Amino acid sequence: MGADTLGAGARSEPRPGGTSSPPGARGRVLLAVDVADLEAARALVERVADRVGGLKIGKELFTSCGPAGVRELSSFGLPIFLDLKFHDIPNTVAGAVRASAGHGVRWLSLHTSGGAAMLEAAVRARDALPRAERPKLLGVTLLTSLAADPEEVVERALLAQRCGLDGAIASPREVALLRAACGPDFLLVTPGVRAAGSDVDDQTRVATPHAAIHDGADLLVVGRPIRAAADPAAAAAALAQEVAAAEASTPARAPSAPTGATVEARLHRMLRQSQAFLEGHFILTSGLHSNRYVQCAKLLQHPAYARRAGAWLAEKLRPHEPHAVISVALGGLVIGQEVAAALGVRAVFAERGADGKLALRRGFELEPDERLAIVDDVCTRGTSIAECAALVEECGAASVVTGAIIDRSGGNRGFDLPLEALVRIDAVAIHPDECPQCAEGIAAVKPGSRRR
Ligand code: ZN
Repeated sequence: MGADTLGAGARSEPRPGGTSSPPGARGRVLLAVDVADLEAARALVERVADRVGGLKIGKELFTSCGPAGVRELSSFGLPIFLDLKFHDIPNTVAGAVRASAGHGVRWLSLHTSGGAAMLEAAVRARDALPRAERPKLLGVTLLTSLAADPEEVVERALLAQRCGLDGAIASPREVALLRAACGPDFLLVTPGVRAAGSDVDDQTRVATPHAAIHDGADLLVVGRPIRAAADPAAAAAALAQEVAAAEASTPARAPSAPTGATVEARLHRMLRQSQAFLEGHFILTSGLHSNRYVQCAKLLQHPAYARRAGAWLAEKLRPHEPHAVISVALGGLVIGQEVAAALGVRAVFAERGADGKLALRRGFELEPDERLAIVDDVCTRGTSIAECAALVEECGAASVVTGAIIDRSGGNRGFDLPLEALVRIDAVAIHPDECPQCAEGIAAVKPGSRRR
C-alpha cells in the first residue's frame, strides 16, 4: 500500500461499540456521502463513522450544503475527499484549490481533461498553502460511466503525474494498468466497487473490493452498497473485512522498472514534489536569461528520489556496458553514486582545483581501456562533461556514454558522446536585452554551484 494511504492512526478516537474490522483496511474505504441534505448526511455518517476511513463529498451534497456542510461532516474526525472534479481555466481552478484550505479537506479532485496548464496551476496553488492544509490532488481520468479506452486512461494518469498531482481516480478495470504505468507510490482511488454478487447500478466498469486492492488501488470510494444496505454499518464492516482479506493475499508492491513516457511522468512529479522547479529571474550558463530553473539538488536531497532516478538512468546506460561511473563534483556526485550502485560498478569523481581545472584527486585512478560513463545531474551545454571526457582520455581510459537526469541542451552540446537523459526540458531562454524582468529592474541570479 502506498505511503499516502490512511493507516490505523487516521481516526482520533474509536467510538464505543466499534466493530473488530481491521483499522488499516477500514481506513482504505471512503464513504460517498451522496445524499441531498445535511440531515440525511449526518444520520448516515453517524451510523458508519467508525467503520470507514474518510468521507467523500460530491456535487449533490456540496451544492445543497456548501462549505458549512464540509465543516459539519469533518467534525466526525474523518478526513474529507471533496470530489467536485474541478475543470475550468487555470486561474479559476487555482482559486478553488486555495479556497479548499481550512475545511479539513484531505483530497481534492480535478479533471485531467482540463490540461497541463490547469493541473500545474492547481499544484502551484496547493503548494503555496500552509503544509497542514495542503490537500492531495487527484486527477479524474475518465468518468466510470463511460466506456473507456485504456490507453487514454493511462495517458491521462501520466499527465496528472507529470503535472505534480498526487494520484488519480480510476475505475477498478484500469487499476492494474495504472499501477504498472505510474509506479508504486502514485495514489490510486477507485470508485465503482461492489461487494461480490451485488447489482451493477449505472457504473458499467465495476469490480469487487478484493480485485481492486489486489490490482493496486489505495483507496476505495463506496456509496450505494453502504447507503442502501439494510444495515449500513454492517455493510461497511463487511467491506473492510474484504479489503483486509485482499491485503493479506496481495504481495507487497514491488518497484517497477518503467520506461519511456512513464519514467518521464514520474520524474516530473518527483521534481515538482521536491520543488525543484524554481521560478524567478535567472542567468543561465549560456548568459541568456530565463524565468525558470531546475535545481536538481532539491530532487536529490530525498534519498528515495535519488535512488529511483539513479536506477532509471542506470537502465539507460547499461547497454553501453560501462565499467565505472565518473561524475563532476559537486552537482554530479549524488546521481553518479546512485547510478554506479544500480549498475554494480565503482563511482569516482573529478573536481576542480585552485586553477579551476578538473582533476582526479583522493587517489582515484582510471585503468587503461576502462569504459567510463560520465554522469551529471543536468546537461545544459555540456561544458563540464566535455572537460571530464578530456580528463578520462588523458588517463588512458575511454568515455563511452554520458548520462544526465535532465537534458536542457536543446541539442546544442559541447561533446560528441551519446547522451542518455531521463527527461528533456526546453529552457525558455531570452537575451538580456529582451528580458522583461531586466526591464522591470529585477535583479537576476546565477543559480547552480559552479562559480564563475
Ligand atoms: Zn533578465
